[in-house]
Amino acid sequence: MSEQTSPSRLPHLLPRMVVLALLAGIAVSLLQPKVRLGELTGETMGTTWTVKVVTRGFRFGPRDEEKLKAAVDACLAEVDHRMSTYKPESELSRFNRHAEGTPFQLSDELFHVLQRSMQISDLTGGAFDITVGPIVNAYGFGPESRPVEPPSDATLAEMKQRVGYHLVAIDPATRTARKQRPDVYCDLSAIAKGFAVDRVAKLIESKGILDYMVEVGGEVRVGGLNHESRPWRIAIEKPADEGRAVHRVLGLTDKAVATSGDYRNYYMSNGARISHEIDPRTGRTVRNDLASATVIHDDCETADALATALMVLGPDESYNFAVNHGLAVLLLVRRPGDELVERTTPAFDALVAAGRVVRSAGHPADAR
Ligand code: ADP
Ligand code: MG
Repeated sequence: MSEQTSPSRLPHLLPRMVVLALLAGIAVSLLQPKVRLGELTGETMGTTWTVKVVTRGFRFGPRDEEKLKAAVDACLAEVDHRMSTYKPESELSRFNRHAEGTPFQLSDELFHVLQRSMQISDLTGGAFDITVGPIVNAYGFGPESRPVEPPSDATLAEMKQRVGYHLVAIDPATRTARKQRPDVYCDLSAIAKGFAVDRVAKLIESKGILDYMVEVGGEVRVGGLNHESRPWRIAIEKPADEGRAVHRVLGLTDKAVATSGDYRNYYMSNGARISHEIDPRTGRTVRNDLASATVIHDDCETADALATALMVLGPDESYNFAVNHGLAVLLLVRRPGDELVERTTPAFDALVAAGRVVRSAGHPADAR
């Protein structure tokens, strides 16, 4: 005898099959852990921070979210306490006041960031240089109030004597730093936010959360996927003097992205744009056609510092530098008539082709 259901019995079985299918569907959806998107925000280093975490099941509730927010706040306060030039009692401010010649004992965090800063200075031929601080302050982009006039040539020439990353020697064996002049002054504003992002990412991962987005003042790092199980969508701003517009949205997973630009933090003086990016080699504020530089890297500290360095190098030198070092970079270059031209490196294009960076349209961004 055949085991097969005869076609004549099918109409009787159909309602039962429908009920079974519905029950199976309900069972599957009940068994599937609930996806929860937690969003935390706060303020640090004179800017804002956002963290998004995707959790599944009932493992992570509102109480855990509160605890995580407190832990993120504490982590960021610690970074600020080590690296702020705005806080006279920060570790960096104490180092800036320290006498020359005698070693200054560094915390693990400050040692790490100073050493990384020096490596990036070497790599970029001095385009990135944390000792540029006095000039940053003279232009009015530091803790002191803005001057009526930008610094004169004579003032800049004098200040340049104090600038040069070789004026700070770091000893990895003793974790100390030594200044070669008493008035050497370091400014970590171009790297500390990226470092803070990395620290928060590590903190979140230590809680067993692998799907997350961390953003501090526009520098971003993502892990895993967003709540829709898609790459996180990160908006690259369109450089504009007023308002905020999106140039492009990148889909990213397990990467950091940082952007530096001449369009957010600047003022006009005698018709010239005085940007907060300083060329340490000339001591002058950066003036070139590069409107913004976006770097995608494994860690945010490197992405942050390199984005600043690329702004200094300008459109052509930075493009060649990024290509030669295999960096994933997107540049927006100003052309006459307010036109913006996008230039991407082969490493950036390869990420796009591999689906790590997805040209994303029609979806709101998770971060910008
Ligand atoms: P943002 O702080 O807007 O993200 P950046 O990461 O490019 O922008 O950092 C710019 C800040 O870094 C400036 O405000 C200044 O304090 C400091 N800075 C400016 N030029 C340099 C440079 N060439 N190397 C290192 N730090 C710099
Ligand atoms: Mg930077």
